[in-house]
Amino acid sequence: MGASILVVEDEEPIQLLLKYNLEAEGYRVRATAQGEDVAYLIGEERPDLIVLDWMLPGISGIEVCRLVRTRPESRDIPIVMLTARSEENERVRGLATGADDYLVKPFSVPELLARIKTILRRINPEAVADKLVAGDLVLDRKTRRTSRGPRDVNLSPTEFRLLEQLMQNPGRVYSRGQLLDTVWGRDAFVDERTVDVHVGRLRKSLARGKEADPIRTVRATGYAFDERFGK
Ligand code: CA
Repeated sequence: MGASILVVEDEEPIQLLLKYNLEAEGYRVRATAQGEDVAYLIGEERPDLIVLDWMLPGISGIEVCRLVRTRPESRDIPIVMLTARSEENERVRGLATGADDYLVKPFSVPELLARIKTILRRINPEAVADKLVAGDLVLDRKTRRTSRGPRDVNLSPTEFRLLEQLMQNPGRVYSRGQLLDTVWGRDAFVDERTVDVHVGRLRKSLARGKEADPIRTVRATGYAFDERFGK
């Protein structure tokens, strides 16, 4: 499960183009045409990055940018602005308002993807790394394989995503609800007990015999990847 990206773009073809290409890269994408929705969407789930169009029908991209930067809970979220050619002389203002980067429309999709990856790598290398490694445990995003020392660990696709999510942020405690949203998706009809079942199976595959269990159960809260595992 890659990083989560919020796309704020009112032109439908561009919004779809962004969503399609970002999802193909493995990001989780939410999109809106309204700057007014941004505060709510950030509250719902903090995105790792925002792609923000300058010209929006309601409050402008620049105002959205300002809003995101003034709130403590969203201050650090990187923003990539999209501007039209005619607004190019406004770029400096955009960067001064706190955007991390900008692209001029019509932009090249590979260029945008490259810039996004650069920014994400800077803030959280684990979110875009090809391999997640902790001690003798290796999760390979490219080949979708997991191994522990010399042996392959066979995981179902769900267990793989679950481990990926936990390993991506060692030590961070996820509630069952958060794991349902990020691993199963917001629309899945499964209850929180399902998380326990899959964590149980994942543990069984990861830790055999006397091997240490890399997953920590946090009572009354949820689960975390043990940040001391392998150290
Ligand atoms: Ca626009």
